[in-house]
Amino acid sequence: MTVLRVILADQLSARLDIVAGAEKGRDVFLLAELVSEATVVPHHVKKIAFLFSAMRHFAEALRSVGHVVRYVALQDDGNSQSLDGEILRATEALRPSRVAITEPGEWRLSEMLDGLRLALAVPLDILPDTRFLCSHAEFALWADGKRELRMEYFYREMRRRHGVLMEPDGTPTGGRWNYDAENRKPPKAGLDSPRRISFRKDAITLEVLDLVGRRFAENYGRLEQFHFAVTRQQALRELEHFIADILPSFGDYQDAMVAGEPYLRHSLLAPYINAGLLYPLEVCQRAEAAYRDGRAPLNAVEGFIRQILGWREYVRGIYWRFMPGYLDNNALDAKEPLPWFYWSGETHMSCMREAFAHTFDHAYSHHIQRLMITGNFALLAGIDPKAVHEWYLAVYADAYEWVEAPNTIGMALHADGGLMASKPYAASGNYIKRMSNFCDGCVYDPSVSVGERACPFNALYWDFLARQRQRFSRNARMPYVYANWDKMGPDKQTALRRQAEMHRIAMREGRL
Ligand SMILES: Cc1cc2nc3c(=O)[nH]c(=O)nc-3n(C[C@H](O)[C@H](O)[C@H](O)COP(=O)(O)OP(=O)(O)OC[C@H]3O[C@@H](n4cnc5c(N)ncnc54)[C@H](O)[C@@H]3O)c2cc1C
Ligand code: SF4
Repeated sequence: MTVLRVILADQLSARLDIVAGAEKGRDVFLLAELVSEATVVPHHVKKIAFLFSAMRHFAEALRSVGHVVRYVALQDDGNSQSLDGEILRATEALRPSRVAITEPGEWRLSEMLDGLRLALAVPLDILPDTRFLCSHAEFALWADGKRELRMEYFYREMRRRHGVLMEPDGTPTGGRWNYDAENRKPPKAGLDSPRRISFRKDAITLEVLDLVGRRFAENYGRLEQFHFAVTRQQALRELEHFIADILPSFGDYQDAMVAGEPYLRHSLLAPYINAGLLYPLEVCQRAEAAYRDGRAPLNAVEGFIRQILGWREYVRGIYWRFMPGYLDNNALDAKEPLPWFYWSGETHMSCMREAFAHTFDHAYSHHIQRLMITGNFALLAGIDPKAVHEWYLAVYADAYEWVEAPNTIGMALHADGGLMASKPYAASGNYIKRMSNFCDGCVYDPSVSVGERACPFNALYWDFLARQRQRFSRNARMPYVYANWDKMGPDKQTALRRQAEMHRIAMREGRL
């Protein structure tokens, strides 16, 4: 009897049980391009094009090995444009004995499946997503009973469990778990992005680009210069290119930012890992092999692996443990609406303008730009976490709620009250000046805190700390900042807080 096997846009992995367990000639795969999913938030057009093209190529790959595929394209007659609608339609047309699907990455879809189960006339099997290296049960086992859920300890356990960068005697390779202290170099003069490979667009991708350009003209982002890998083979070439040419200097400049250089030494692999074209463990193993063969230094390899084996698995664990309430977190009572310049990119702050330009053009900006520029600004200015979350979910090619929400609400905005981060990632213009060359071309001056040329990050930083004093003054990692604030005396403090209010007014009026 036929099993209808549903594959979601971010589950394009042949090793998942949903594919590996299929019987050729008996089972039918369902993949569907859906307006409802493409417009939950106004997703970047490059992300939509990447996923539609990767889905169409994945369907071709399944067909080429003898599987039957029901592919519902966006413009197909009868497309109900919703996931439950398409599963019900396929069930009526094909009369399968069961429906199977891999657990979705998002709470919203998981709830939808609970409702669908009642509407379906046949059983619905929900299979675990075995691409992740820490199952829900394993995360619960680690987290249960702990007062604090610190990533660093989770990461060590993951290293041990998966034998990554471990020695036979059970010690971490190189004698230390973490080489982060070596990974925070400011940009050196002339630091640029090495040339990246890109792929010739085939007929499938060209058709998708045309479709997305017409159908999602109102969505965010620039569609031109589409460079994404859209098949597993292409994603593997991206991985090999990164390991051979870029990984050796990944660590040193991981936190650096340079105007006009969106990528620097970052891997650009997140869209492929998140959509299923690459497996997280294989990516970590390829990086480890580069270290063992003497092709990349340990600080780079450990730093890279920590992001995937540590942070990526950890945020997924946090998401599922604390949903559905996680999205409503607002521990710092931040209420400002999201300034329009997050969408338009029109601001005088050159660091923000730079991050917005990368985002609009490439559906990308690297971690430190997300955390310490656009995230830091939202934290300091007190912008409503839900609005910030919706922006991050919309604008990046790698954005999925399970990974984006903890990074935004927890890491960048501290809105979960410190569940993820022991101290807020708040920084003044000084940090941005040290780690980038953005200030060189700015109308504001990072060394000025009050007056016309005052860098907005400065007064907003002190105002944030003053507003949140009750919460943070007892934080063991922050007494020195409050000692500095107290040393300023009342006149300077009042001037800074007035200046912060002026920045907020300018922000609301679109003049900042
Ligand atoms: C506010 C904010 C929102 C974010 N939203 C997303 C998102 O929607 N999707 C997403 O994949 N990442 C998100 N991140 C994490 C990180 O910024 C991106 O994974 C990274 O920038 C992707 O670029 P890259 O592939 O070049 O990463 P690299 O810098 O090369 O890092 C290597 C890999 O490590 C993983 N990784 C790195 N940092 C993190 C992290 N903090 N959490 C989870 N995985 C990580 C990614 O798979 C990435 O491909 C967010 C970070 C912040 C601060
Ligand atoms: S001066 Fe301030 S606003 Fe301008 S780029 Fe530097 S940090 Fe950003």
